[in-house]
Amino acid sequence: MTIRVTVWGENVHEQKNRVVAEIYPKTMHGTIAEALNRQDGITATTATLQDPEHGMTAERLAETDVLIWWGHAAHGDVSDAVTERVAEAVWSGMGMIFLHSAHFAKPFKRLMGTPCNLSWREAGERERIWVTSRQHPIARGIPDHFELENEEMYGEPFGVPEPMETVFVSWFQGGEVFRSGLTWRRGAGNVFYFRPGHETYPTYHQPLVQQVIANAVRWAHNPEARLVDPTDAPNRPVAQALEPIVERGPRLHHDGEAGYR
Ligand code: ZN
Repeated sequence: MTIRVTVWGENVHEQKNRVVAEIYPKTMHGTIAEALNRQDGITATTATLQDPEHGMTAERLAETDVLIWWGHAAHGDVSDAVTERVAEAVWSGMGMIFLHSAHFAKPFKRLMGTPCNLSWREAGERERIWVTSRQHPIARGIPDHFELENEEMYGEPFGVPEPMETVFVSWFQGGEVFRSGLTWRRGAGNVFYFRPGHETYPTYHQPLVQQVIANAVRWAHNPEARLVDPTDAPNRPVAQALEPIVERGPRLHHDGEAGYR
């Protein structure tokens, strides 16, 4: 079975910043997708903020098994309708991976329900990433620790709900630590947050970073059929109760002859 991945890129820095364009001549999302396409059993395509409906139409989401999201400068430009559509796709069973500054992306905040705030510093300092869950599928093939020579610092406290599992923690040269690989389950959807990937450093060219993302795709993929409508909230009328019951008390939503609404 081939896992269909869509890599969503905000695609702003690559167009406006020469440093970013030189590090990522094929864009960040293009680089991530290219690495995934070298993996067995994964087919990755890209979508961007500038596409109609940000490339996140209902049809596109229905054909996406795992969605990867990178955003930073234009979180506010993502429409509420698309944010809700993405959240509903996750609740239905689409896997989702949020990278780096996507901690402030609207779909991430929608799925977490918390401020998702953290501390940060842009000083090109060393990041040392430690595996905290050696048997976790997302850590498969990853050494006990590895280093990124230049990265932006993200520090605790990270304002997210307690995760299902913590797969990685990071240490930074300036002394801070951060939970840099976290999993959650939202409805039928598996969600992973992975911290590294500041746009002015070549992080997504790093083979171990690429391996973590590929592992996360396989972990997040839920092969079971998608729920048709995860927000469905049906009324169960008295006449259809499994055991006979007698109506009593005031009924706010009773419509008389018309039944219940
Ligand atoms: Zn950054």
